[in-house]
Amino acid sequence: MDTKDVLVIGAGISGLLCAAELHAAGMRVAVLDKGRGPGGRMSTRRGMGATRIDHGAQFFTVRDARWRAWVDRMLAAGAVREWFRQAPWDSNPEGYPRYCGVDGMNAVPKFLARELDVTPSVRLLSLQRVDGVWLAESDGGNRYCGRELVLSTPLPQAWALLDTSGLRWVTNGTRATLEAVRYEKGLATLVRLKGASAVPAPGCLKLDEDALVWVADNQQKGISSEPALTLHASSAFAERHWDSSDEERGGLMLEAAKPWLGEGVAEFTCHRWGYTLPLNPFKEPCYRNGAMNLTLAGDAFGGPRVEGAALSGLAAAEVIRSSLATAKGG
Ligand SMILES: Cc1cc2nc3c(=O)[nH]c(=O)nc-3n(C[C@H](O)[C@H](O)[C@H](O)COP(=O)(O)OP(=O)(O)OC[C@H]3O[C@@H](n4cnc5c(N)ncnc54)[C@H](O)[C@@H]3O)c2cc1C
Repeated sequence: MDTKDVLVIGAGISGLLCAAELHAAGMRVAVLDKGRGPGGRMSTRRGMGATRIDHGAQFFTVRDARWRAWVDRMLAAGAVREWFRQAPWDSNPEGYPRYCGVDGMNAVPKFLARELDVTPSVRLLSLQRVDGVWLAESDGGNRYCGRELVLSTPLPQAWALLDTSGLRWVTNGTRATLEAVRYEKGLATLVRLKGASAVPAPGCLKLDEDALVWVADNQQKGISSEPALTLHASSAFAERHWDSSDEERGGLMLEAAKPWLGEGVAEFTCHRWGYTLPLNPFKEPCYRNGAMNLTLAGDAFGGPRVEGAALSGLAAAEVIRSSLATAKGG
C-alpha cells in the first residue's frame, strides 16, 4: 500500500485548502470524498434542462488576508468573480464584495483540486492506527494509508469515523465541547422556470418566512443559461419537512416564492442538507492531537460559512507543517 504523508478525508473547502497548502510544501497528500466530485457544501447541480444551480453555499466573503491570497489567485485564474457588493439587507450602504464561482460555486473546489490527488466516490467507513500509520477503509473495501490524518467532514461524521478506531483520541473535557457543536438542517428546492424570474437585482433576496429564507436567480447570477431558482427554507421548516414528499415540501416553498416565479415552474426537485451551518463552533480554528498525528478541521472550527471553513483548513495545514518541522528538529 502507498503510504501518503497526509490523508485528508473530506474534499470540502477546508480539506482542499489544507491539502493544497501541504502539497505546495512538498508533502504527498491524498484527498478522499464520498461525493461524486469535490466541493461538499459548495455544490452546483446540473440536470434539469440546461440549468446550473448552486444549491448549497450561495456566495462567500473575504475578510482575512490568508484567505484573500487564495481568492486573488482564483480571481486571476478566472475561477471566481464578484457577484454583488450591495444588498438590500446591508446596514452599511457601501456594502462589501460577495464572491461566487464563475460557472457555479463548485468552480472553487475544482480550482483547488486541479493539482491534487483527489479521489471522489469513496465513503470511508472505518479507521485504524497500525505502527503509527493511519489506515482508512472504504465501503468498497479499499484501504488508504497516511502518516498524518486530517478529518474535514462535519463533526458528527468525523466523530462516527474516529469511534470505529477504538482509540482514545481526545480528552473527556474536549470531547464534551466537540460533542456539543450542533448544526442546522437545511432544505433547498431547485427550480427550472418557464421564463425569466421576477427576482430583483442583484438576483437574490433574503426573507424571513418559515418556508422561505433565501431566493436566488442562477441566470441573473450568471451561472445558468436557462432561468433557474434556488429556494432555501428555514431550519425549522427543514426539520419539520425532513421526511415529507418533494411535492409537499417543494410545493409549500414554491407557494411562498410565488411573487418571483415569473411565467411559472417547468420542473423542480428538493435537496436535504443534514448540515448547513454550525450553531456553536469550537473556539479554536482546528483540533490537533499531535501524539496521534490527527487533525480535525472544517466550519465547526473556523466558524460558520465558507470563509470560516477555509481558515480552518489553512490553520490545519499550518499546525501540521510546524509539528512536522519540530519533529525533524527544524
Ligand atoms: C444550504 C446551504 C447554504 C449555505 N450558504 C452559505 C453562503 O451563502 N455563504 C457561506 O459562506 N456559507 C454558506 N454555507 C456554509 C458553507 O457551505 C460551509 O460552511 C462550508 O462549505 C463548509 O466546508 P467544510 O469543508 O467545512 O465542509 P463540507 O463542505 O461539508 O465538506 C466535507 C466533506 O466531507 C465529505 N465526507 C463526509 N463524510 C465522509 C466519509 N465518511 N467519507 C468520505 N467523505 C466524507 C463530504 O462528502 C463533504 O464533501 C451554506 C451551507 C449550506 C448547506
